[in-house]
Amino acid sequence: MAERRPIIAANWKMHKTHLEAIQAVQKLSYLLDHGDAERVEVIICPPFTALRSVQTLIDSDKLPYGLGAQDVHPEERGAFTGEVSPLMLLALKVAYVIVGHSERRQLFGEDDVVVNKKLRSVFAHGMTPILCVGETLEERDAGGTESTVTQQVRRAFDGVEVSMARSVVIAYEPVWAIGTGKTATPEQAQEAHAFIKSLIDVPILYGGSVKPDNAAELLAQAAVDGALVGGASLDATGFANIARAVPS
Ligand code: PEP
Repeated sequence: MAERRPIIAANWKMHKTHLEAIQAVQKLSYLLDHGDAERVEVIICPPFTALRSVQTLIDSDKLPYGLGAQDVHPEERGAFTGEVSPLMLLALKVAYVIVGHSERRQLFGEDDVVVNKKLRSVFAHGMTPILCVGETLEERDAGGTESTVTQQVRRAFDGVEVSMARSVVIAYEPVWAIGTGKTATPEQAQEAHAFIKSLIDVPILYGGSVKPDNAAELLAQAAVDGALVGGASLDATGFANIARAVPS
């Protein structure tokens, strides 16, 4: 796989108005210097309502951050009340789209078929999917981590050309670690990432209660190419410290 900078992505979930989002990105830009930005690829995924404001700020202040959306509808337009299309995201210069987050799978009933449609649509529109995979605690306890992620990866890429699939970013997010304060150990993360890389050799971010005080040991693992950060990304200081925890 070609060398790529580690990625530290913020998933703000359903937090921050567009005004709060502007403040947070401005604060981040004071905290992260040029050197940090060169070492690490920072991606911000605000809620839909803040995408325009964050994009305008990134453009006007020439900030070295990628803009990501947290979800997308696979169709370009139509009678899909409440949904947001890939064309709308593209018009806002969105480069990344989170697909298959466990909260979408668990709370909104998204199955692997829907995840596959979204993934294909994101690819077809020239954006990069951040595909989330990960096992529940029951699956891990039953020894099913590898079979779960294998199924999620295989089904997500159904019908996707290999050359295209290689441009994905995967986030390994064990469901039991998301928003729970329980983090996978560095060894557990390394093991799962190495396994996923044996399926598809692409950048793999770890997600699940990453915090400033545990980021360094997770990011030091050879197969951990960055982090997808939920709760701890809401505070600009903490998020900047996570970005700085990337080993040089
Ligand atoms: C996430 O939402 O992708 C996530 C990893 O959340 P948290 O960091 O809060 O566990």
